[in-house]
Amino acid sequence: MLAPLACTSPPPDSLWRHLAARAGTLDAPVGSGPLARDLHTDVAVIGAGYSGLAAAYALEKRGVPCVVLDANPVGWGASGRNGGVVSSKFRLSFPAIAARHGLDVAKRMHRLAHDSVRVVESLVDEFAIASAAFEHSGSLRCAHTERALAACIAEADWVRTELGDRSMSALTRGEVEAESGSAGFVGGVLSADAGTILPLEYVLGIARGLAARGVPIHESTPVVAIERVSGAPGVIVRTPAATVRAKQLIVATNAYSGLTSATAAYQRELVPFRSAMIATERLPAGLDAKLMTARRSYTETRRMMKWFRRADGRMLFGGRDAFGKEGQQTGFEALRRAMVALFPDLAGLRIEFQWSGYVGMTFNALPHVGRSDDATVFCLGYNGAGVAMASLVGQQAAALALGETPDLALLAQEGLRPVPFHSLRAPGVRLVAAWYQFLDAMGA
Ligand SMILES: Cc1cc2nc3c(=O)[nH]c(=O)nc-3n(C[C@H](O)[C@H](O)[C@H](O)COP(=O)(O)OP(=O)(O)OC[C@H]3O[C@@H](n4cnc5c(N)ncnc54)[C@H](O)[C@@H]3O)c2cc1C
Repeated sequence: MLAPLACTSPPPDSLWRHLAARAGTLDAPVGSGPLARDLHTDVAVIGAGYSGLAAAYALEKRGVPCVVLDANPVGWGASGRNGGVVSSKFRLSFPAIAARHGLDVAKRMHRLAHDSVRVVESLVDEFAIASAAFEHSGSLRCAHTERALAACIAEADWVRTELGDRSMSALTRGEVEAESGSAGFVGGVLSADAGTILPLEYVLGIARGLAARGVPIHESTPVVAIERVSGAPGVIVRTPAATVRAKQLIVATNAYSGLTSATAAYQRELVPFRSAMIATERLPAGLDAKLMTARRSYTETRRMMKWFRRADGRMLFGGRDAFGKEGQQTGFEALRRAMVALFPDLAGLRIEFQWSGYVGMTFNALPHVGRSDDATVFCLGYNGAGVAMASLVGQQAAALALGETPDLALLAQEGLRPVPFHSLRAPGVRLVAAWYQFLDAMGA
């Protein structure tokens, strides 16, 4: 038995863990236990979230031997903690992409975004992950000002005329209020190619499916060193008890890359932002029938964006919280206040679950996929929208590792490019967030 690891902490007590424990999926073994003996393989993958498991899935489908290593249990990172909003977008809008990079690039990015939702559907189907309760119910972006609404509608019009995509449609103030139950918005835009999923069930289901196909997934196995032998191909990946020699390495550690010094270089690609969620007690019947009856995911247009959805008869409310440390109470209280401001009916309800995690933001607001050297591929930086995108991008990382040339459009990046002044990121994030909150409060 390996000693407990200094770099790990227990997973947060989220609603998702509660549901998985109730369904019995949390106890079903998914991994092969900590790595205890040396091995040789074609591709070693670090990280057992959506990215790493999607990479392993693509390798397994091509018959390429691989192994997945994670310092923690499957889904311990963002993949087991997120809001389960499945979206077909990037943080950068398609018109903005076209303005900067041309229409052809916008078309390729648009295809990637929608392909990512297809990947979620096919993984759920292929591994029969009914417990993930994926619903292709759409996502409603709720506008907090007339100006924000006009911008959302202009984007939907542009996507329809320039990209031929008819999946976005405008909703009036009354329609948004009728289906969300909140009078706090002036209207919204519905994206039909989106939905919700139970995120922990999804990642556990993929891991179970891979394990059943013989892919070794070693949990509680931190990578403590990555070495190259000069003049020789491949990598040596060291873990506390054993070593993996592989022809190629995929680093899929995203916002948790700083867990050990071996992967810390990838952390410097990102500005990690804390993201927090709360879940109420189960709603009484009257509210159950009034709030978010279409069971979509909902986001809003404020800069410090909040999102909300229903699950297990509860209201879930999430948002970026740059101020507190992980698990600090102030951020959760701010979330509760924001929720009650939009849904005054919820004022008296208990918050039964609260948890948080880190999302990886990038300077160009897009995910990055590329090679950090001739034996190592990385994928990271989903900017808080990685449920679908990481499921796709992990597969593209696998293709890159095998020498293929997937269309990555603007996601492609050659080499690591650390965020400038990375050591100042924490005060920098706080400053930007404070400015955004000020603008939001002013209705700007
Ligand atoms: C609170 C929250 C809400 C979110 N909501 C949404 C949402 O609603 N919709 C959406 O699309 N996205 C959302 N996201 C973002 C989404 O969850 C992530 O983009 C996605 O899960 C990233 O997956 P990943 O596999 O790349 O990383 P992760 O799931 O974070 O996995 C990384 C793994 O790497 C392991 N690791 C790190 N370093 C090492 C090492 N040295 N050795 C071994 N293992 C290591 C970690 O233990 C971890 O398990 C949210 C994120 C958070 C935190």
